Amino acid sequence: MMCAMCRRNVAKYILPTGEALCDRCLIRRVMSRVRRAISRYRMFKPTDRIMLCVNGSLESLVMLDVMYSLEREYPTASLVACLVDEGRFEEEHLKEIRRKVEEYGIELIEDSFKERYGMDITSLRSIEGADPCELCRSLRMNIILKIAQENEVTRIAVARNMEYECSIAMLRLIRGLEPLPPSLREGFIAKPMLYVSYYEIEAYALIKAMKSLRPSCPLEDKSLIKYLRSELVELDRRHPGSLFSMIRSLEDLGSLEEKVHECIYCGEIGVEKVCSSCRILITRGIIKSGFSDGTLPSSTATHARG
Ligand SMILES: [Zn+2]
Ligand SMILES: [Zn+2]
Repeated sequence: MMCAMCRRNVAKYILPTGEALCDRCLIRRVMSRVRRAISRYRMFKPTDRIMLCVNGSLESLVMLDVMYSLEREYPTASLVACLVDEGRFEEEHLKEIRRKVEEYGIELIEDSFKERYGMDITSLRSIEGADPCELCRSLRMNIILKIAQENEVTRIAVARNMEYECSIAMLRLIRGLEPLPPSLREGFIAKPMLYVSYYEIEAYALIKAMKSLRPSCPLEDKSLIKYLRSELVELDRRHPGSLFSMIRSLEDLGSLEEKVHECIYCGEIGVEKVCSSCRILITRGIIKSGFSDGTLPSSTATHARG
């Protein structure tokens, strides 16, 4: 079968949409989706020092590869990567991730829950009334913001793709909260993978011979967000385009954007300056006040709307 985009090469991948694409066109597809998200949200400036959050997942490895290619077009921008060990990695995984990041000639800054909080992920299991994945995410992002501050990073890039963003919106609906637009424009935390679906990530990874280096989480069974994500991936496979429409609908909620903040402890988008997970973590004494001026490392106070 010929590639539906270039009509020249043999197509190797049939996406759930029925489109058959060759290696080259599939990679171009992912790149163009990333470019679209970056330009729509004005995620980066040409002089940014961007920190890529690499956690060994396929999403984060694909982001690393894509951002490395894009960065070469902006010689005044620079990349650094970070990895936070929540207590789930074996030394073997860490070694492989280090090797992977090194291949791109990018510096990897490592940190861990143990070093910063003197605990690991399993301590979160006993906290009642909260999704352990959300607490873990807040703790991880709290460390990432600190690393950014310590290393003069001007933007953080996280590999949250389409189904991740949709799962956050669904979670908010389930909890009786308003869903929120995906991201602040020119916010400190950028999501360049926002328009990329999981099956595009899988195909991209296959072409580049990447495998996931992220061990599964010991708390996964308790996580609603994890469940929602896998169901949404399945939904998008059976009904291609569903998540893209959902993202579009979320973006249309622009009128909510004026009451949206990034949590000062973890950067999560919400309507409060401190998100509910961080409030729980502060009450438990796990997170201590880190950003006394109440702003993220790079001020996001002036985000534009429209
Ligand atoms: Zn092609
Ligand atoms: Zn928070």
